[in-house]
Amino acid sequence: MSRDAAQTYFQKGFNLKAVVRPVLAQSYHSGVVDRLKELGYSARAGEVRLKLAREFGFCYGVDRAVEYAYETREQFPDRRIFLSGEIIHNPEVNGRIAALGIRILPDHRRPEERYGEVGAADVVILPAFGVSVAELAHLKAKGCVLVDTTCGSVLNVWKNVHRYGRDGFTAVIHGKHHHEETKATASQALTHPGGHYLCVRDREETEEVCAFIRGRRTGDELVASLREAMSPGFDPDRDLQRIGLANQTTMLMSESLEIQEMLRAAMRDRWGDEELPGRFRAFDTICSATQDRQDAVLKMLEEGGLDLMVVIGGYNSSNTQALARICAARLPTYHISGADRIDGHTINHRPAGAHHSEVATAAWLPEGEVSVGLTAGASTPNNVVGEVVERILALRGLGTAQLVAAG
Ligand code: SF4
Repeated sequence: MSRDAAQTYFQKGFNLKAVVRPVLAQSYHSGVVDRLKELGYSARAGEVRLKLAREFGFCYGVDRAVEYAYETREQFPDRRIFLSGEIIHNPEVNGRIAALGIRILPDHRRPEERYGEVGAADVVILPAFGVSVAELAHLKAKGCVLVDTTCGSVLNVWKNVHRYGRDGFTAVIHGKHHHEETKATASQALTHPGGHYLCVRDREETEEVCAFIRGRRTGDELVASLREAMSPGFDPDRDLQRIGLANQTTMLMSESLEIQEMLRAAMRDRWGDEELPGRFRAFDTICSATQDRQDAVLKMLEEGGLDLMVVIGGYNSSNTQALARICAARLPTYHISGADRIDGHTINHRPAGAHHSEVATAAWLPEGEVSVGLTAGASTPNNVVGEVVERILALRGLGTAQLVAAG
């Protein structure tokens, strides 16, 4: 057996870029988005002005993961191919991947259940978010082919969490404890003896942790409140003596920094300035793609002149939710998963913040002159953005051929 035939773990694709690129372009490219870019990201048709954020849509990690999924299909045309959960949080992209005959395996607490069907002859693609340490070990033991698309920026977070565990620090992760990436990151903390983690979703949950650190609430109270977000056997008295901060890569940057400062202040109050360096560590692990998209939309909002924002991306996409939160603080904002959410003069959208279900808003696009800002999360392909533009213009009886520079 040649060396290549024996290889079962792939992290760098299969050198089939030339083969899959045309297919990817056909599926995800948008001439409308190209036109908007040519017009300087700001265009007008009739009384509608459209402004696109300078950074939006597919990030490097998603681009790579999607490409590797297509390459995997080419490389193993006759094998069964599975995917650990959604490759990214975008319904259209997941649908297209499923149409290639790649089966998406739903999440399950136990790897034995999730991968029960997978045999040594099969191929499993690991998504850009990564998978937990237990899942990876389980799959390696099966001997199946693994195509690991875990993003380099996620691997960077894992490296920091490892260091925390090695040095006796509990990882405090700003993230959603049920999110694939955060679950995978948290599992890294457990690879060291005595390693622990605690996830905090927002300022409110962080405030609870700070209250414990300052001695204003008991460990039992904290465990009762955040049990689901803690490592098994977590003991706040023992495990919050030394903490290291990390984030899910796609959280709201400003909130992550605030959470960092809240915990630093609580640890300083509890242990004093002298002990702080030995008890508190922090690394900013928001990825550059997330940061660039948040910075670009902030800049666009600061430039002013917009009446409303349309934010495009899957409803379970954290980075899209973060973009929607930034926009909703300044302007009427509609987070939609795709063009089909615009139904005539009604828009079906997910309100920014704590809400999870869609709401319908009628007459969302004001009459007469209107300026619409657009951005999209890191898992939204350009064709979806282009379709949204077409749908907005169609509401006024306009087409993309009428787009001209806004001047
Ligand atoms: S959002 Fe950031 S961490 Fe996630 S896949 Fe994209 S580049 Fe990687």
